[in-house]
Amino acid sequence: MTDDWQDRAACREPGRNPEDWFPDKSDPAAAAIRICELCPARLDCLRFAINNHIGYGIFGGLTHLERRKLTRKTTSVHHTPETADYATYNQHLRAKEEPCEACRAFQRLRQRANRETTA
Ligand code: SF4
Ligand SMILES: [Zn+2]
Repeated sequence: MTDDWQDRAACREPGRNPEDWFPDKSDPAAAAIRICELCPARLDCLRFAINNHIGYGIFGGLTHLERRKLTRKTTSVHHTPETADYATYNQHLRAKEEPCEACRAFQRLRQRANRETTA
């Protein structure tokens, strides 16, 4: 089966420069991203890059860092400022997920307190 979304790819239209989709770090690739935003194959393209863990280039209008953010495991538990502590913060890390807002706030306070006592 062929990937027919590639036949709809706006970046493959005549006159496009494929290199625009593979910028180096100093290049924000804004022009390529604008073309992606109107591309009829955008979602298929994005899915393709995510499913294949492509770690470079612009796909579906997103950089690889943006794609990684999109797929990062979402936080399963949300604590409150009253329940968040070091143990709940570590629970998130053991589950390999971003700590929830309350746990991150707790950790920031804890780090600040540590810095002040060691300074
Ligand atoms: S979304 Fe962007 S990179 Fe993907 S096919 Fe369309 S123009 Fe090309
Ligand atoms: Zn939490």
